[in-house]
Amino acid sequence: MPVKENLIIESTGHGQPFDYAVGLYGSRFFSELRDKRRLLGVKCHKCGKVYVPPRRVCGDCFVEMTEFTEVGPKGVIGTFTILRYAFIDPETGEQKPVPYGYGFIRLDGAGTLFQHYISIEDESKIKIGARVEPVFSEERKGNVKDILYFRVIEGE
Ligand SMILES: [Zn+2]
Repeated sequence: MPVKENLIIESTGHGQPFDYAVGLYGSRFFSELRDKRRLLGVKCHKCGKVYVPPRRVCGDCFVEMTEFTEVGPKGVIGTFTILRYAFIDPETGEQKPVPYGYGFIRLDGAGTLFQHYISIEDESKIKIGARVEPVFSEERKGNVKDILYFRVIEGE
């Protein structure tokens, strides 16, 4: 499917007084996320690896990728950390509330890991391999914060 749009994605509004272009593939990824709550990857026609978020060239094969494919939205925790030390958030200039979870998630159908926050409402459930799903922001703007965090789901 050809890519035609090249949106300028809004900045997060916290101390970054500029917007920036995320490119054709990034525009498509964030537009789908904002408008349809869908996560898009792109598949390498040579090796079959699916990159999320999508990128133009396969890092293994050095070929251009054009086959967009939906992934997730569920996945599994590939690895994670729980941050407990307070620090100054460079996005806000203020102390970031701790603790919070952050991890690398392998979305269903993806060959790469996607970084995001993980809810630590019940820390005992945060494990490598745990099934997770995204919680979307009600008001989406076309940036990575359209997903608030991932949360562990049970019974799958
Ligand atoms: Zn490849």
